[in-house]
Amino acid sequence: MVIKKICCIGAGYVGGPTCSVIALKCPDIEVTVVDKSSERIQQWNSNKLPIYEPGLYEVVLKCRDKNLFFSTNINKAITEADLIFISVNTPTKLNGNGKGRAADLKYVEGAARMIADIAQSNKIVVEKSTVPVKAAESILRILRANHKKGVKFQILSNPEFLSEGTAIDNLINADRVLIGGEESEGGQQAIKELSWVYEHWIPAEKIITTNTWSSELSKLAANAFLASRISNINSLSAVCEATGADISEVANAVGKDSRIGSKFLQASIGFGGSCFQKDILNLVYICECLNLPEVASYWQQVIDLNEYQKTRFTKKIVELLFNTVSDKKLAILGFAFKKDTGDTRESPAIYVAKTLLDEGAKLHIYDPKVEATQILDDLTHPSFTPDPEGVRKAIEIYDDPYQATAGTHAVVICTEWDEFIGLDYEEIYSNMMKPAFIFDGRKILNHDKLANIGFFVHTVGKQTVY
Ligand code: NAD
Repeated sequence: MVIKKICCIGAGYVGGPTCSVIALKCPDIEVTVVDKSSERIQQWNSNKLPIYEPGLYEVVLKCRDKNLFFSTNINKAITEADLIFISVNTPTKLNGNGKGRAADLKYVEGAARMIADIAQSNKIVVEKSTVPVKAAESILRILRANHKKGVKFQILSNPEFLSEGTAIDNLINADRVLIGGEESEGGQQAIKELSWVYEHWIPAEKIITTNTWSSELSKLAANAFLASRISNINSLSAVCEATGADISEVANAVGKDSRIGSKFLQASIGFGGSCFQKDILNLVYICECLNLPEVASYWQQVIDLNEYQKTRFTKKIVELLFNTVSDKKLAILGFAFKKDTGDTRESPAIYVAKTLLDEGAKLHIYDPKVEATQILDDLTHPSFTPDPEGVRKAIEIYDDPYQATAGTHAVVICTEWDEFIGLDYEEIYSNMMKPAFIFDGRKILNHDKLANIGFFVHTVGKQTVY
């Protein structure tokens, strides 16, 4: 079979950009991205896309309604497709106390059931969502138990390694594409067909093929490695603050070792985003189920350290503001979990805001790309507060960083937006309460310059000197 039509179930941060790039690079393939959310699909078909990613709008504009379609007609897209990506969300399954570890596969299961129900011809079904090892087995069981007579399914694992904020570049210039499949003849044939799609722009040597379980585990492993590097450096940042060593100097010296390398050695307030924590929790859960408690607790430490880092940073804010922030105005600059995205899922800024609000602070919040409605939703959500009205009264959301910082006691940098580096801090200082503090949770500012202006500066991994 030559792939002529692709359907992607899930028009989110992965499905949308991935299929836009496939459409861009494969003009001979018709790509339809479907979602059960008509609002999301409507946004994909508008001039204001539902997600912000540098370069995404341009790609969508080039391909939309030519060989790229966004639709709620799931039935039609599945019926016509040769290959179907499942790119739905796989959140952490919460238990009674709001905590959880296992991946909740209900959306994956829902997608598999839809495919089984609708398909009338052979399909290659591709796990694009991040799933636990052996999820393909469950998907296949659903597909094969419900299939119509004569319809055959092949299942592949093709995890996505894109990083939000650089998704389009990551997709176009991928470090690698990973495809896992069954060792059977049908499985190998399916791998060839998906490889053919990627070979439109990815060099063949960058397309790695493995068995299904290696592919599924590699995605969890990659995120666990990346997050653990962040926790590695953040753990040492605490030692720096206690001793007078400087984490930037330590990271530079350590990163020069070619075996270690310099990437992902930036100490910070901690990692966020929808993936790192969720995928490590999932790995921990799998290890526990496999009766590997030592391995489970090893990876759990990466998350615990991240929690510790966020707590440490926020405690320091309160401590340095004379042990109370009650009724003080503080400016939060940056609400997205990282720069160049409008995504706030698991953003450290939410944690910082919660702690400061619990301590009685008034928050002025500014982010260049996160919508005010999103900030309000995050901070008044029942899982965040039992008192949404109280929170609403305690926060103000701004669309200008100078207005957000005016009249505040402190500026707290939660996201490493480039825009924050270029702000006029003399002007900001002149409009703030004195003494004026800056808490740089991302280590992006010139701290000596800020100190010369008159700010008290605290950053991660460096002793605060007065
Ligand atoms: P998302 O929440 O942004 O998008 C998922 C979409 O799937 C939603 O729009 C939802 O409405 C839709 N959906 C769910 N069930 C559906 C159904 N039955 N029919 C139609 N639509 C349905 O999620 P995301 O960030 O795109 O992540 C998707 C998967 O990719 C997750 O498993 C995630 O772990 C993985 N992943 C995410 C990233 C990332 O940076 N966000 C990177 C790599 C991998």
